[in-house]
Amino acid sequence: MAVIVKPRTGSWRLLVALLLVPASIWAQAPLAHGTRSVVVLDAAHGGDDSGGQLGRGLPGSSAGESPVATVAEKSVTLTLSVRLRSLLAARGFAVVTTRESNVNLDADARAQVANHALALACLSLHATESGTGVHVFVSSLAPKDTRSGGRFLAWKTAQAGYVTQSLKLASVLNSAFEQSVAGGSAGSGSNAGVEAAAIPVSLGRTSLPGVDSMACPAVSVEVAPVRGADRQVVTDVTDTQYQTRIVEALAAALMEWRTEADTEAASHPKSSGGPQP
Ligand SMILES: [Zn+2]
Repeated sequence: MAVIVKPRTGSWRLLVALLLVPASIWAQAPLAHGTRSVVVLDAAHGGDDSGGQLGRGLPGSSAGESPVATVAEKSVTLTLSVRLRSLLAARGFAVVTTRESNVNLDADARAQVANHALALACLSLHATESGTGVHVFVSSLAPKDTRSGGRFLAWKTAQAGYVTQSLKLASVLNSAFEQSVAGGSAGSGSNAGVEAAAIPVSLGRTSLPGVDSMACPAVSVEVAPVRGADRQVVTDVTDTQYQTRIVEALAAALMEWRTEADTEAASHPKSSGGPQP
C-alpha cells in the first residue's frame, strides 16, 4: 500500500484522490483467481470527521485498570478495520479498505472503492456509546431486482439491487455474534458471566450514506458498549478484548458467507442468483 504522508495543510482531497488509485488496483489483483473472496472494509469517519467521542461509558477505572480516556470514533473504526483485515487475510480473503489512516473520505469515495472491488461483502464499521452490543444496519432502500431492471443501477441507490443479499448477510452476522463467547470456543462453560455471554446484536434498517451507493452485499456494523441489566457499561467499545471478540465473530461470519456463496455458485453455475458477483 502507498506510504501515507500527512500533509501540513488542507490538501486532504488530493491525498484521498491519490489513495483511491492504489486502492482500486489492489481490488483488481485477486480477480484472476475468483471474485468471491473479496471483502471491503470501510472504517467510517476520518480526518475532519471524528464521529462520536467514545470511552466515556466507564466511570473511571474497571477491575483496577487505569482510567479510560475518551477516543474518537474515527480511530476506533480504523482499529477495527485494521484488526479485521489481518484476520481475513489470514483466512484467504482479499481485503480492500476504504482508508488506512486518518483521512477525509466522503460517502461517494467510499462507495467508489467498494464498487471497484466487486466484493463478496462490504462492511462499514462504526462505533457508538448508544445501546448495547453490536447494531447491524441494512439499507432502508426497497429491494430492486437487477435482472429485470437492467445492468445499470442509479449511483445513489445502487444498494437497492443488493438489499435482499444484504439482509441475508446481516442474518449471518447475527448468528456469528450469537455463537460468540469469550475465549472463542463455544461450550467450554467455565467462567459463565456477562463477559462470557454472547455479544448482544440488534438488527435495523436505515438510510446509510455510502452503503446506499454500494453495489455489493453490504451492512453497517456499529459497535456499542456491552451494558448490564442496569444499563451501566460493563465493557466499553475501547476494550481490546471486546474488540477481539467482535472482529473474530465478523471473520467467522464472513467465512460462513463465503461458504454459502460457494455452495450457491456450485449449485447454480450459470445463474446470476445468490451472493454476487
Ligand atoms: Zn459513525
